[in-house]
Formats: sequence, C-alpha cells, structure tokens
Amino acid sequence: MDELPFGIRRLTHPLPFRLTHVHSYLLPGVDGWTIVDTGLGLPDARARWSEELDRLDGKVARIFVTHYHPDHVGAAADLADLTGAPVFQGRRDYEQCALTWGTDRSAAVEEWFGRHGMPEPLAQGLARETGLARAVVHFAEDPHFVEDGDEFAGWTVVAAPGHADGQLTLLRDGVLIGGDHLLEPITPAIGLWPASSADPLGDYFASLARTIELAPRLVLTGHNDLITDPPRRARELLAHHRLRLAAAHEAVRDGPRTAFDVCSDLFGDGLTAADMRFAITEALSHLERLVLDGRAASREDGGIVAYTAR
Ligand SMILES: [Zn+2]
Repeated sequence: MDELPFGIRRLTHPLPFRLTHVHSYLLPGVDGWTIVDTGLGLPDARARWSEELDRLDGKVARIFVTHYHPDHVGAAADLADLTGAPVFQGRRDYEQCALTWGTDRSAAVEEWFGRHGMPEPLAQGLARETGLARAVVHFAEDPHFVEDGDEFAGWTVVAAPGHADGQLTLLRDGVLIGGDHLLEPITPAIGLWPASSADPLGDYFASLARTIELAPRLVLTGHNDLITDPPRRARELLAHHRLRLAAAHEAVRDGPRTAFDVCSDLFGDGLTAADMRFAITEALSHLERLVLDGRAASREDGGIVAYTAR
C-alpha cells in the first residue's frame, strides 16, 4: 500500500484488461476508514481484501463507490459482506448499476450497436461479452444514497458526470478523489449508451469547467499516477474533445455516415473488436453533441441512424 496526503492509503488491484489495474483509496477518519472503490469481483477478490483488512488498524466505517463501472463497483458486495460497512453511492449511478449488472442487457446493447451501424456479428459478440461481465460485478443492493454537496468524515461529495452520468468524487482541502473523472495519460471514455444521458460530452465539459473553477491541487485517480496540476489536465481534456468534435464534424461532412462508420476517422485503424465498444459509444457522444450544437443532423432510415454535417 502506498501512503498519500492525510494518511490516505492506495491499494492497486490487477485487471484482466488492457487497462491492467485499478486503484482503491482508504481514507482514515474519526469514525473509521472510508474505502473508495473496490476493484472487480474476481474469484480472488475476497481473499485479497481480507488480507488488506487484516492489516488495517480500526474498523471500516463505509464503502464509497465513485461510479458503477465494473472495475470500481465489482467487489462492493464482497467488501460490504466482509466489513459489515454500508455502501455509499449516487442514486442515478445506482439506477444504472442495477440496470446494467442486475438485468440481462445483451439484447439492448446489441440493438444499440446495430442501430448505430455496427455489423451484426460484431454487435452480437460484444453484447454477449457485456452479459458475461455480470459474473464479476457484485454490486451492493440498496446502498445509502449520497449526492453533490453531502459531507462525511471531512470530505465533500462533488458530482462529476461525463465518464459516467452519476459519477461522484470527494474533495477535501484541495485533494480530489476523482474516480475516472480525470486520468493521465489516457483520456476517460465519454460514451453514449442506451439509457445514459443524451449528452454525456456536454455533461463532461461542464464537469471539467467545474474542476478548473474548484482548482484542486491533487487528484487521486482511479488508474495510473496521481495528477498534480488538475486544472491543467482539465484544460487539456477540454482541448482534446474540441479537436475530436472537429474531427467528427469533418468525418460526416459528406454524410450520411453512422457512428460506426466514423470510428476509424476518430480513433485510427488499429481498433480491436473489444475497442469498438468504446469507440462507437464515444463517436456517438461527439456526433450527438454536434447535433445539439446545430453543427450536424441525424436521420434514421430502416432502423439505422446516420449523421450529416450542416
Ligand atoms: Zn470508469
């Protein structure tokens, strides 16, 4: 475990993806430890957490989930079971969590990918994988809901929608526990999924502007190294997405083209099948932002949605 400001500890879990790891943070407090994010509910998650909990002086007061993505929420129920501590999560985030991992969404995801131009065999394969991921997501039912502005153990909850609609972060004296709101050198995925916000990129722009305004001095990130100049990183991410919006606009100049069609214009040709899940949903968040800006129009024809620049 690594030591950080305020005696915070960082615990890194392995992930079986290209993104090879995810961090949990353990925040000390007068009423005990707050554990932020949990890792995946892999078969060895319980054993690894038990070992860490044995090393911890004092009890766990609560488990805080920044957002419902599998690497963050996956072992929440295991950890709640091991510690007896309540799980804190945003209401909107929990609704998406319960929908995504508590029900079979394969058909909805396959339909969504197909509607945005993905060939059927690929859409089918990716939708099936989404279904399989449910096995390693043990979210906690009926969590304690928290929202922007709530305070506990010296930390203030700050909503940061964009990467996930209901993502919540924690701020204390210039230190932000950021989930996946700011990452470096990778950029957080900003995807438009069925049942997500209609404008995740617009939401993200507002969250980045708020980060610049709040000007934390340090972000403890969900992946990779901590960020020591968060407003700088927020400005870089704003600039990155403005460039990508321009590329999306250019890609549909001679439309109509689907979100799937423009993936290679935006992300290059080296995309694997697994990458396509993020590429198509991120292309879509940019195309829909262009529509809302009046810079593109969308049209549905035979159940397929395509975009043309205006
Ligand atoms: Zn995430």
